[in-house]
Amino acid sequence: MKMIIVLKPNSTTEEIDHILERIQELGLKPHLSRGERRTIIGVIGDENKLQAQPLQAIPGVEQVLPILKPFKLAGREMHPADSVVTVGKVRIGGGSLAMIAGPCAVESAAVLDEIAGHVKAAGANILRGGAFKPRTSPYSFQGLGEEGLRILRDTGARHGMPVVTEVMDPRQVPLVERYADMFQIGARNMQNFDLLKEVGQVRKPVLLKRGMSATVKDLLMSAEYILSEGNLQVVLCERGVRSFEDSTRNMLDLSAVPNVKVQSHLPIIVDPSHATGRPDLIPAMARAAVAAGADGVHVEVHNCPEKALSDGPQALLPDQYTALMQDLRRLADVMGKSV
Ligand code: PEP
Ligand code: MN
Repeated sequence: MKMIIVLKPNSTTEEIDHILERIQELGLKPHLSRGERRTIIGVIGDENKLQAQPLQAIPGVEQVLPILKPFKLAGREMHPADSVVTVGKVRIGGGSLAMIAGPCAVESAAVLDEIAGHVKAAGANILRGGAFKPRTSPYSFQGLGEEGLRILRDTGARHGMPVVTEVMDPRQVPLVERYADMFQIGARNMQNFDLLKEVGQVRKPVLLKRGMSATVKDLLMSAEYILSEGNLQVVLCERGVRSFEDSTRNMLDLSAVPNVKVQSHLPIIVDPSHATGRPDLIPAMARAAVAAGADGVHVEVHNCPEKALSDGPQALLPDQYTALMQDLRRLADVMGKSV
């Protein structure tokens, strides 16, 4: 890692000597460059040492500028080629699309079996369903817990689909790991750093959803937490951010897709269900996501939305999902991608 320390225009020779000494004390290499008006010091060395130091607090220092982006593992600089994440036999990224579908929550074996049959026939390749639900109200359905995980795993196996499910707490990681093919970190937990570190310790793919108030940079920094623990299988998910617009549940930031692609090699998928909260808008936004270069689409589907225990109002009916998937397959063709 490199940094540039810009000195104040009136910094004294004593101050400069002191800064050089401090940098050497840290075992780092300073390179002094004196200009007519400005003096700068380049520093090369162990980035952990650099980041831990409040260098800007040293007298005479005006600004400390990192040369590399702060996400060195998630960034493209050190890893120019697109990453491909594998969930079961499904490849995500590098031209392969993840079509993740299923109910918001696992409700019962019978309901999940029916939904799974429909979405699989429509072309979905990963089954979703929450067993631990992050609900706004503590009185709302919280999920079936381990029983839900078991139903999800068995249903996925029966229909030949790997499964993804949310983990909300570091203490749940070993349990969820036993049943799921992919961890989902929900929007509300995108900056639960202990949880990120915990799934970083596991060698299983992670679907990391963007927080509703998180910037793209925040999202990439959260991915960095997982990567820096050694788990390189991270897929990002844009699911809408909070805005003043109140006719949709959130505001889908589709620009996050090409924006992430410029900065990072990680795959990114889009969840138009939580982004819009509206079945009448989901298909158009799903198509737009594929056109924008997303590596997949994540959609909530329910066979009887009026009876769903969570997020019923935003669920697509199985037939609507089938129609959407026909469009998405054609679009994938145009984009030179495969489902
Ligand atoms: C979900 O996928 O059911 C969910 C709760 O999503 P988010 O974390 O994006 O709100
Ligand atoms: Mn949901």
